[in-house]
Amino acid sequence: MKTTNKVDGSKLNHSLMREISRIPAWDGIHRGTLMRYYRTCGNKSCHCYQSKSQRHGPYWYLSVTWQGGKHKLYAIKPEKVAEVRRGIAAYKRLWKSVYRIAELNLALLKQTQEATPK
Ligand SMILES: [Zn+2]
Repeated sequence: MKTTNKVDGSKLNHSLMREISRIPAWDGIHRGTLMRYYRTCGNKSCHCYQSKSQRHGPYWYLSVTWQGGKHKLYAIKPEKVAEVRRGIAAYKRLWKSVYRIAELNLALLKQTQEATPK
């Protein structure tokens, strides 16, 4: 019984170390949703006034909801869109890792408690 616990424990520890190694770098992390907009300029002689497909843009924004539910849009320059998109993916990956690490830590805790006589 104790031998089985040790084997499982080392597997769990290995999984934990692997998950920790997957945590993305903190720098460049972004939270929110990237949004793309097209606009008309209001000039009736402009091509944007003729057709929806001729509108100006795209204009990019990062939509962020802050604590307390306050919502804000931040303008993102086109050359920064890929960087922000990677930052959002890293943020999601980070939370997946946190969830998985807590899950593995709980499994390890349960094992050490089961292995310890009452
Ligand atoms: Zn226009």
